[in-house]
Amino acid sequence: MADEKEKIWVNSGDSHVWEPSDLWQKNLPQSMAHRGPRIVREERHDVYYCDDEKVFFSRPEMLDAITPPGMLDLNLRMKDLDEQGIWAEVVFASVGLWMTVMKDPDLVRESARVWNDWAHDELIKRSERYLPAAMLSPLSIDDAAKEAERVAQLGFKAIALPTTPPPGVEFNQKEFDKLWGVCNETGLVVCFHVGTGTSKLVVTRGPGGAIINYWETTVPAQRSVVHVLASGALDRFRNMKVMAAEAGAAWMPALADRLDEAHRQHEIFTDPKLERRPSEIMKDQVYASFQHDESAIATVTGMGYNNVLWGSDYPHLEGTFPHTQEVLHELFDDVPADVRHRITLGAFEELFGVAMPQALAA
Ligand code: MN
Repeated sequence: MADEKEKIWVNSGDSHVWEPSDLWQKNLPQSMAHRGPRIVREERHDVYYCDDEKVFFSRPEMLDAITPPGMLDLNLRMKDLDEQGIWAEVVFASVGLWMTVMKDPDLVRESARVWNDWAHDELIKRSERYLPAAMLSPLSIDDAAKEAERVAQLGFKAIALPTTPPPGVEFNQKEFDKLWGVCNETGLVVCFHVGTGTSKLVVTRGPGGAIINYWETTVPAQRSVVHVLASGALDRFRNMKVMAAEAGAAWMPALADRLDEAHRQHEIFTDPKLERRPSEIMKDQVYASFQHDESAIATVTGMGYNNVLWGSDYPHLEGTFPHTQEVLHELFDDVPADVRHRITLGAFEELFGVAMPQALAA
């Protein structure tokens, strides 16, 4: 039985929180109060609205399954963390992630500010164990850079960008240097969480759809990493760190090989010229979080890519709640102590500067 075994303490690079259902209605400027992200339980579906457009549907049992008491009550949540063996966690929004599909720059800027203020008051002020990933406008780099500066001062350590930006926006654009510069300066980690932004979550309804659509969410996460890296941003901003959240990890070294090949064989076409091989850049500045992948551990032990973090994805169906310890024992029981430490605690500490007290680790 797992509960008779030693508790494995971990940090989580990927978790979620439910915002209060009336958060935006209460806090957006009066003129746009009803246009924020919200969920309405209709006859057969929970309908996600953004700017009064229906942007997502799910079956009611889905929402119920991902709403344990700790998802709404942040004091109960701390009990879940302790019981599951999670010290600190990067906390992403839930319905708030949908603001990344908005088309009105003013609305998304204000919606992001509302989430960030709430996350500051309710998460950052409550405990150093909660590291919310600030929402930013994907429609205006100026707005995003300004808000990034503001949240860094409020104590945020991470920002969330959608893996699929709005039409016309690409993460290799030189204009993004304004935002990357703020992240470089302040240490804000740039997080790309799977399944966010304007991509279709249902690509096929045919045979195998559930698995195909799940896999599809990985592709934009890879694209985001490639765009940032190939644009030379990580050369220009050596202190900037990127994390792909919930996208698995073992693809990173394979991706690095592919990019190295382009960098070497297509050198005459590359612009800008990168100062380091893509694989070196990834080892220095790009990280990945996973939940269940056995191959993620072999990535560290066998492929020399160490920037691998475990993540609970609390409380989603793709995650490990409420059986985190079983998953951790299955993954790590036979893994050398240094590798286990790196994946469960060390990479997170390096990225976010939050360390678990020694007394727990012992
Ligand atoms: Mn997640």
